[in-house]
Amino acid sequence: MIIATNIGELQTSLRFFDKHLGFVPTMGALHQGHLELVRQSKTLNLPTVMSIFVNPTQFGPHEDLEKYPRPFENDCALARQEGVDVLFAPPIDQMYTTPSWLSVRESHLSSVLCGQYRPGHFDGVCLIVLKLLQLVRPSHLFMGQKDGQQLRIIERMCEELFLPTHVVGVPTVRESDGLAMSSRNQYLHPDQREIAPKLYQALQAAKRAFEDGERDARTLINSVHQNLDGIPGMELQYVDLLRWEDFQFSQTIQKKSILALAAFLGKTRLIDNILLETS
Ligand code: AMP
Repeated sequence: MIIATNIGELQTSLRFFDKHLGFVPTMGALHQGHLELVRQSKTLNLPTVMSIFVNPTQFGPHEDLEKYPRPFENDCALARQEGVDVLFAPPIDQMYTTPSWLSVRESHLSSVLCGQYRPGHFDGVCLIVLKLLQLVRPSHLFMGQKDGQQLRIIERMCEELFLPTHVVGVPTVRESDGLAMSSRNQYLHPDQREIAPKLYQALQAAKRAFEDGERDARTLINSVHQNLDGIPGMELQYVDLLRWEDFQFSQTIQKKSILALAAFLGKTRLIDNILLETS
């Protein structure tokens, strides 16, 4: 595995590969969710580039940028074991000039769900992903369904900007008790870790109702609330059910939709979602 810590090294290392590349952008603190993205890329026989970059423009002023975990040596070992060909881990000044005069603004899909509570977050994600895509120029970009809103926004950005990259959404990898894997799970205290799987259980209960024929969006949203409201130590930030295509609310579910939630367990904010697909 080649480790490139600046743009020059990245570009030199990419000369070894042909034009079909798989790309997995991450913020590090790798777990099986990230590694599954690499596996999907390798399954398509694509030489695979992973980036590790804790992107400052996607963190709000009171978010966890400073304390975000950065176990770089361990990440390198995991990436190498999984068959990553090039690991790009630049310092901040490689990715952002000071001052930085450019921004990307997504005005529709980011106005709901997490975007309401994290102003500017998805604009920061779009900017860094766009910069990374310009550098790596992959044929395939692998992103997790775990961050469903991010996946949809990037998919749409690639479409609107005619980027020659196919975005592949990878199903959420979960712990054995259903908790979606996340670098932030390590912040959870044991008592919080114990209640965290209830988030997925509540989504699953709604999914069962959907599979039994329930199509009323409010009823499904309410069922998630009924399962989660009032759990000591858990504060639900939102639950919503929106069409996947445009993230609009529709009272009766007729199209592929995302049932998504965010909750605080103490200071740790967890998100999860499932897709509801009509046949
Ligand atoms: P992050 O390092 O949190 O920015 O995540 C990097 C990529 O890994 C994003 O595309 C995430 O959606 C994806 N990812 C994170 N956790 C999971 C998971 N549990 N299952 C699948 N993909 C994930």
